[in-house]
Amino acid sequence: MQTTRGGFLKSVAGLAIAGAVLKRPADGLLYAQEKANVSPRSTRIRDVEIVPYSLEQKVVFHVALPTVPTSEGLFVRLRTEDGVVGWGEASPYSPVTSETPQSDMAMASSMASLIRHRDAFSIAKAVADMDALSPFNTSIKAAFEMALWDICGKVAEQPVCRLLGKFRESFETDKTVFIDTPQAMADTAREYVREGFRAIKIKVGESPEKDVERLRVIREAVGNDIAMRIDANQGWSPSDAVRSLHAIEKYEIQDCEQPTAYWDWQGLKYVRDHSPIPIMADESVHSPHDAIEAVRLEACDMINIKLMKSGGILNATRIAHIADAAGMTCMLGCMAETSLGLTAAAHVVASQGNIVYADLDSSLFVVNNPIAGGMRIDKGVVYLSPEPGFGLDVDPLFVRKLRPV
Ligand code: MG
Repeated sequence: MQTTRGGFLKSVAGLAIAGAVLKRPADGLLYAQEKANVSPRSTRIRDVEIVPYSLEQKVVFHVALPTVPTSEGLFVRLRTEDGVVGWGEASPYSPVTSETPQSDMAMASSMASLIRHRDAFSIAKAVADMDALSPFNTSIKAAFEMALWDICGKVAEQPVCRLLGKFRESFETDKTVFIDTPQAMADTAREYVREGFRAIKIKVGESPEKDVERLRVIREAVGNDIAMRIDANQGWSPSDAVRSLHAIEKYEIQDCEQPTAYWDWQGLKYVRDHSPIPIMADESVHSPHDAIEAVRLEACDMINIKLMKSGGILNATRIAHIADAAGMTCMLGCMAETSLGLTAAAHVVASQGNIVYADLDSSLFVVNNPIAGGMRIDKGVVYLSPEPGFGLDVDPLFVRKLRPV
């Protein structure tokens, strides 16, 4: 049975009156009737489409891990029986999630069979079933889960951050300076400051001596009012990391992301115990289970959450909650998403009080970002659309050209 919004409101009002007259034990009946009237039948997923894409990048993402020359990923478009459309995005990066666009494409057909005919609001069950089907493949799982949230927001006529429990209206994001010569990096950093960014994330981890020189030149270029955070992407040994962090302390570095290998919890803890700069885990923490380990070992001061590592919004909020309960703060970061995936991440930032930093800049490096609406960045500040769901759409011409399957 299809229920219109007007019909739904009338039926709820009628049932409320009936419940008030009948008193107990009619409450149970009222609940059952209400449940029947808001039957999730109309929010069941009917169609699943996968849209693989490849976008040109304005810069090469040169970091201490292998680089990829283009932004390749997949859009997922889900449609309910009532015709409500939800969008999601997978931005696989094999050095971190062991996924490629091709492996995500192969896994997407299994995920599609699992999601089709489900109620879009049963997100926790969908996440549990996707995790049971594959403990890894987090980017493609994130794409499906994201699309379910978009649908839920549209059906509830609310932005997703309000469904998650809104905390803030807007927030700052940093912009990333990739590894290059010290002077080229300083020029780029100065350009970002001119664009209005107040926080800059600097990629290091190539060699400790060069990295110290890079940070010296960049601090000189941007002045003392700009927040500088660094990301070594596992490039240092524990002893190199401690030496480098002491050498750069005078450049007022806000925090250092993932100084050591992702698997080396003891190494990370060693660095944290001997560092004058707060340490943030990134590649070491994908899931809520990893977050528990980070807290238990006291291996870091902060966690960088990414939807592509956590497998979506629900697990991202679980990580934030674990960190919050342990008195830790978090950053929300990204891989190479367009503004679709970034918007989903921005809704998480808007809903979690202990996500105090954001690194949601990847769409700024994409040539012809094909997304209309969603979040926008103005002078380093992220604003969300007040529209329901994520409040965005993918350019239909772009989608048609790519031939969704
Ligand atoms: Mg990182």
